[in-house]
Amino acid sequence: MKKFNNGNLKLAIQKEGRLTQDSLAFLRQTGLEFESYQKLLYSSCRNFPLEILYLRDDDIPNYVSTGVVDLGIAGQNILSEKREPVKKLLNLRFGFCSLVIAVPKDSPIKILSDLNGKRIATSYPNSSKVFFKKNNIQADLVQVRGSVEITPAIGVADAIIDLTSTGSTLILQDLRVLTKIYDSEAVLVANNDLSKNKKKLVNNIITRFKGALSAKNYKYINLSAEEKILPRLKKIIPVLGFQYFSFIPQKGKVSVTSVIKEDIFWETIEKLKIMGIKRILVLPIEKMII
Ligand code: AMP
Repeated sequence: MKKFNNGNLKLAIQKEGRLTQDSLAFLRQTGLEFESYQKLLYSSCRNFPLEILYLRDDDIPNYVSTGVVDLGIAGQNILSEKREPVKKLLNLRFGFCSLVIAVPKDSPIKILSDLNGKRIATSYPNSSKVFFKKNNIQADLVQVRGSVEITPAIGVADAIIDLTSTGSTLILQDLRVLTKIYDSEAVLVANNDLSKNKKKLVNNIITRFKGALSAKNYKYINLSAEEKILPRLKKIIPVLGFQYFSFIPQKGKVSVTSVIKEDIFWETIEKLKIMGIKRILVLPIEKMII
């Protein structure tokens, strides 16, 4: 199609599924402007030379490795399973899940070696084989395309290897996790042989993506404190190249502006409150370029 040979970057995302909404939301957070609705096969960005193609997620690794598209967003699970030669660029912090081995709640299978000689249903045969080899397990793999979690109940398998995030599907099917094979999240991958021009565009996209990822992981805070507690404050508020202390007119007071990482946000706020700081302004960050 002529449309796609215009030198623009081509990025594939999942057309319809668990990663679709989060992928679209993330792309918008990076500042890219484009239309998207369910029946669309591709969108052109208004403010960046980028075409977004909507594809089946298990086709994405192959399309990226063969250069049909330059970039793809897919679950690490799909990439590990398909083992296509692509370049991993960034973890995108959504689409979290784990590939696990699960057995019926009352199964006699208690430890890994109990899997020897058992039938195990999965739609992840490659990941399963690698795990079995590493752990010296001889089991029969039953390859299924979907509804893996029902196979023990209908007598097709003794155990399953499947993705889980909240664990609720496993519980509903009376299954318990025996062990985890790996964790997964959405990742950005690229073709290995991009032209010089495309590499430049990809670097530009990576800067945008990193800016959006950092913004998501940090909060902006501003507070006013007694000047004398400044040394203690400096120990609590991490310095990330974004810390400003300035003196405000009120005698003996200092104004502090900083960014705090989401995962230590509440414990930092608690520490500040213990120090007697009462009013703290917290704002979301749109972009953070570091
Ligand atoms: P879908 O084809 O719509 O089921 O989307 C599957 C993709 O979503 C997987 O390849 C994973 O990367 C991701 N995902 C996140 N959580 C889960 C989950 N609990 N079960 C299956 N896939 C998940």
